Amino acid sequence: MRIGIYPGSFDPLTNGHLDIIERAMLLCDKLIIAIARNSAKQPLFTVEERIELLRNCCTGNANVEIVAFEGLLVDYCRENDVTFIIRGLRALVDFEYEYAIALMNKKLAPALDTVFLMSRAEYSFVSSNIVKEAASYGGDITSLVPQFVTNKLREKFSRNN
Ligand code: ADP
Repeated sequence: MRIGIYPGSFDPLTNGHLDIIERAMLLCDKLIIAIARNSAKQPLFTVEERIELLRNCCTGNANVEIVAFEGLLVDYCRENDVTFIIRGLRALVDFEYEYAIALMNKKLAPALDTVFLMSRAEYSFVSSNIVKEAASYGGDITSLVPQFVTNKLREKFSRNN
């Protein structure tokens, strides 16, 4: 059984992430979407809220598991028999960062490989950060994130104003 893991912050989930998820599912028998609890980034959504966003938008597929994990990704992978890590690549700016992480993970767990999926052109500029920035000023982000995420972003920012 090929088990893929797609780790990230998903703060929040975007259509760019969803596109990677759909394509990753074609490569493995089971896909674990894993939210890192120990990310250095200051999140807008709590881990539990991000899990809810993912659950709501990835329903209906029994082969997808949504989890949060702490510590090293490679340790989680070993404990859960993960075959490969999935990451998305947007523009060149992603490359250096992703390359370094992939090499480090390879060093820590030589049996584990990272598979990169190129972003679809229409989502190549889409990041959680850019979506949050636009949404915080009332920008229209409806074509960039699922409807459920749009609603949650509106709730967040109307509460802050
Ligand atoms: P992280 O904090 O680990 O970078 P993100 O949630 O920002 O978490 O991203 C998770 C993964 O999804 C990363 O590999 C990132 O490059 C990829 N990704 C994010 N947005 C897109 C997109 N629009 N298209 C393709 N891949 C993306």
